[in-house]
Amino acid sequence: MQWFGKIFSVLVLGLSLSAQLLAKDVLVESQSAFKSALKKVVPGDAIVLKNGVWSDFEIGFFAEGTAQQPITLRAETPGKVIISGLSNLRLAGNYLVVEGLVFKNGYTPTEEVIAFKRNDTHLANHSRVTQVVIDNFNNPDRDSSDYWVALYGKHNRFDHSYLAGKRNLGVTMAVRLNSSDSQQNHHRIDHNYFGHRPILGSNGGETLRVGTSTYSLTDSHTVIENNYFDRCDGEVEIISIKSGKNVIRNNVFFEARGTLTLRHGNGNLVEGNVFFGNGAEHTGGIRVINSDQVVRNNYLEGLTGTRFGSGFAVMNGTINAPINRYGQVVNAQIENNTFINVDNIQLGAGSDAERNAPPVNSRMQKNLVFNDAAADVFKIFDDMSGIAFADNVLHNADSANLKQGFSRTKLTMKRNSAGLLMPQGDAYKNVGAPASLQPIKKSAVGPQWYEKKADRVEFGSGKVINVKAGVENSLFNAIAAAATGDELVLAPGRYKIAKLLEINKVLSIRAKKSGTVVILPGRTTLFEIQNGGSLKLSNLTIDGSESPDSAGNILIRTLKSGMYVSYRLIVENTKVENLNINHSHHFLNAGSRSLAEEIHIQNSEFNKITGDLLKLDKEIDDLGNYNAETLIMDKNRFTNIEGVLLSMYRGGTDESTFGPHFLFTNNHVEKVGQGSRNKRQASLYLHGVQFTRINNSQFMDTAGIVIEHTVGDPDTEIRANRFAKVPALKVTELHTKGASTVQYIDNREE
Ligand code: CA
Repeated sequence: MQWFGKIFSVLVLGLSLSAQLLAKDVLVESQSAFKSALKKVVPGDAIVLKNGVWSDFEIGFFAEGTAQQPITLRAETPGKVIISGLSNLRLAGNYLVVEGLVFKNGYTPTEEVIAFKRNDTHLANHSRVTQVVIDNFNNPDRDSSDYWVALYGKHNRFDHSYLAGKRNLGVTMAVRLNSSDSQQNHHRIDHNYFGHRPILGSNGGETLRVGTSTYSLTDSHTVIENNYFDRCDGEVEIISIKSGKNVIRNNVFFEARGTLTLRHGNGNLVEGNVFFGNGAEHTGGIRVINSDQVVRNNYLEGLTGTRFGSGFAVMNGTINAPINRYGQVVNAQIENNTFINVDNIQLGAGSDAERNAPPVNSRMQKNLVFNDAAADVFKIFDDMSGIAFADNVLHNADSANLKQGFSRTKLTMKRNSAGLLMPQGDAYKNVGAPASLQPIKKSAVGPQWYEKKADRVEFGSGKVINVKAGVENSLFNAIAAAATGDELVLAPGRYKIAKLLEINKVLSIRAKKSGTVVILPGRTTLFEIQNGGSLKLSNLTIDGSESPDSAGNILIRTLKSGMYVSYRLIVENTKVENLNINHSHHFLNAGSRSLAEEIHIQNSEFNKITGDLLKLDKEIDDLGNYNAETLIMDKNRFTNIEGVLLSMYRGGTDESTFGPHFLFTNNHVEKVGQGSRNKRQASLYLHGVQFTRINNSQFMDTAGIVIEHTVGDPDTEIRANRFAKVPALKVTELHTKGASTVQYIDNREE
């Protein structure tokens, strides 16, 4: 009937007999049926995948359509065809369309999930992939690199699609220019939802990259417009432009860590983009490098980023720079941008012995800089006489270093119906972003049939489950039965734990009242955090005195390998004691390539421990990886711990990460780190930590603090502590020459 209807309607429309009449939809139910349908396909045809789950399906869609009659591969019902397992899609040929597929519950066995090519010589051109979903389609080996979408060929379009939850190494979407058949490509990337990309914890977590340094002097002519970048936090670059003549227009960046970086290539246009940082950490804006870049009519609000991650940065470069380094900024046009509560605008950023050429022949005009509170947001690192400043307006953003071309005034701002703050009064209507600017709405991007769900489950967002004491395996069984987000509330009593507690969901475990619940680990390991797991412990006493009498017991560990989902660990109002049945009894031992998004330990007591407290030091291959993004320890007592309190290691010379961050405040440390097995010979050992605060704490009769600075311009402050019977602070600068950059202020030594 379907066939008849199709042919009938074609006849009724009176279209010419020929290919049109023969054009057909072919519904296929198996991989072999797909292959035979593909052999017979003619322009105008559609191959329709039957609804259902297609496992281990490496789709090779190679065909030749025409401009009038493309060949389509689509889902029977958009969103109802799930491609899972070891699967991918390659398309090659001309005038092809792919529509409505969902990739989830699997990963690609090759280096791309969707590739616009069959091989190096057979590419796709004039083709379109629309309304596809790639959702958490991750190689379980986080180090195994792949792209989710790789554009090759020319005149291709990727639109109205959903890409979220990439957790393994590799750019989410890449435009490749590595042969002449892929250069001057005129691709269009539009109306896509780039959903949350969690912090990768190393280089290679960009969301979109156009080109590579090798081909960066080649023009790409890719248009990136009307996309929504929602918390794309992978690394310091959200978008990395590494080619010329691209247009990045009318995109929204929502609470995304990092920046849109014009890293390589010349003559790019950045226009009408909107950045809403909402004060989230490391939210940045636009970074300008190289020649002939135009940045106009953009709106940036609430961005906290600094240095290369600033709300706005114009970098210093090098004249005749090597292709992989920093080209001098020449002929940049920066106009009609609005900066509201942007913490940092940096000019001449990165100025050093190598990057010694400031911007030249450039203009910065009619920009509006507004701050709620008075602050000088400008940082100027070199001679800026190569930028002609004109008609810029500042409100509460004074800079002693900027005179000509800046007027200071009091502005009244009003939020318009598009959600943007605009200055009131005709005098300012030509300053800053235009009033006509309309940021693309989240609801207007991606396929309409796929929900843009939050991918993070909060602690305590599920139900409350009461757990009884004195019942065999009651906690083990409650954990196994709980759903993610649930909270287990333990009745007063003693809980002897006879089995490993596997945490593969977001779980809170607490006693109603502190001091009423004692947990007694009976195995070598108490908790194992697995993929998808996060753990919050509150009001508990954990007593190791009934642990097995063997060396190397562990209270909490992650999977030893294969941790590709980052986790959170919170410990509060909890007492951990007597981890001393044998030697080297550790509190937390992170596995290789595990990444804690956050570890937060507060108002807790740790006493009589023979091992280390926090072992976050497995990434010793110096590839720029590390085991915790943010570690906060506040208002705790650490006493009689033989090992190191913290061993944190971030090696390598790559500068693509913001972390690790370490905040250690208001703690009491006594008799810590003096055991003969403490290899670090330290109480706190920090290698390559990017941001450190050790403040308002007491260290008594304890091993010293050892800090090894590596790359990045690490920000380390040690302030207002009391040290009694503690060896002197040891700092090593492994990367920069000259004096230590540690701020050591107001400490008392006895
Ligand atoms: Ca990078």
